[in-house]
Amino acid sequence: MSPDLAFHGGTPIRSKPWPRWPQPAPDTLALLAKVVDSGRWAISGPYRGTRSFERQFADAFAAFTECRFCVPTSSGSASLMTAMEACGVGAGDEVVIPGVTWVANASTVASINARPVLADIDPVTMCLDPTSVEARITERTKAIVVVHLYSAVADLDALLALAQHHGLPLIEDCAQAHGARYRDRPVGSFGAAGTFSMQDTKVLTSGEGGAVVTNDAALARRVEHLRADGRSYGPHTPEVDALELVETAELMGGNLCLSEFQSAVLVSQLSVLDDQNKRRAHNADWLDQQLLALGLTPQVSSAGTTHRTYYRYAVRLPEAIVARVGLDTLGAAVSAELGLAIAPGYVPLQANRLYQPASRRRFSGLPTDLSVDLSELPMSADVAGHVLTFHHAALLGDGSDMEDIAAAFAKVVALM
Ligand SMILES: *Cc1c(COP(=O)(O)O)cnc(C)c1O
Repeated sequence: MSPDLAFHGGTPIRSKPWPRWPQPAPDTLALLAKVVDSGRWAISGPYRGTRSFERQFADAFAAFTECRFCVPTSSGSASLMTAMEACGVGAGDEVVIPGVTWVANASTVASINARPVLADIDPVTMCLDPTSVEARITERTKAIVVVHLYSAVADLDALLALAQHHGLPLIEDCAQAHGARYRDRPVGSFGAAGTFSMQDTKVLTSGEGGAVVTNDAALARRVEHLRADGRSYGPHTPEVDALELVETAELMGGNLCLSEFQSAVLVSQLSVLDDQNKRRAHNADWLDQQLLALGLTPQVSSAGTTHRTYYRYAVRLPEAIVARVGLDTLGAAVSAELGLAIAPGYVPLQANRLYQPASRRRFSGLPTDLSVDLSELPMSADVAGHVLTFHHAALLGDGSDMEDIAAAFAKVVALM
């Protein structure tokens, strides 16, 4: 314990503010104004003679992910639910998901009346471990959901081979990886479907929003129906002031549509994403070297990764200092030096207080429990217990901002 640490009342390394998030693109306001005056605020409204922003965004994002189809949805959770159902997952089925991720990966499985089955993660990439996935597959397994977590891409070669061997669809949850590439192709384009979230904290955001991408026309059509109350786009452009969505009634859906406001924001934000991703990756590369020199271990992406993106920067601290000081305290000490929230990442899912199917009567009698002992997911507990993370906005700063982060870690490691 040293009085020099900001955590103990000493002078912090930094008092300047950090870049804020979200950051509007130059044309965000202008495109929003267009929606206001367009006479159509959602795709369920009448066609007004111009292409909806939702169609514009779908085309742009399909191109961005190099997929044939993109179906925008209201959230990342909606994209997961519709993608899983479009892959044939239903009541009583099992879906294998990673042991460390956001609660939505478990709750969306439960919400389609299926059972989330946790597999362990790889300690280096922090993403799904193919060997553990294999051990979790039963005759009830209907899909595997892989999450490209924090700043890494999962081992897609091994997971695709495994999924193919068992005849299972692999769904890539890319909520944290917009723009990441593997073997020089965008994530989201490898599995049966890729899902994205455009919630406020994500690297591409419209406050709330989501999308499913796929190369499978029939799967895309099912997602379209699931997100628009059983309606889909017709084959022809409608008359002005007529509805664009057609009641095919092929499949019952819900309303999980993205509004025109959100779609317009995404069209504008997508135009700055590549530059922002490059800036974050450049800063993170530099920071990796500094933290490695301190004996810390930044997250590593899988071998096939050709472009990394950063949703949260994640770094592992040595066992000795974690055991002596505690991970929460270490995070609080670095945060105090910087005025930046630096904290442990996700807890293993079955320890996540937000996963509470028993709190809702609609799940009574359904197999929603995460029936696996923490000891069966040793790496999930290990990663959760040793890794500190911070939000990508800080990586949009300049070189001196990165120097501050490195200096704060160095000070805390030296003095704690
Ligand atoms: C954010 C997130 C989701 C959920 O997305 P929402 O838009 O909040 O519904 C799902 N999976 C992962 C990995 C996420 O980070």
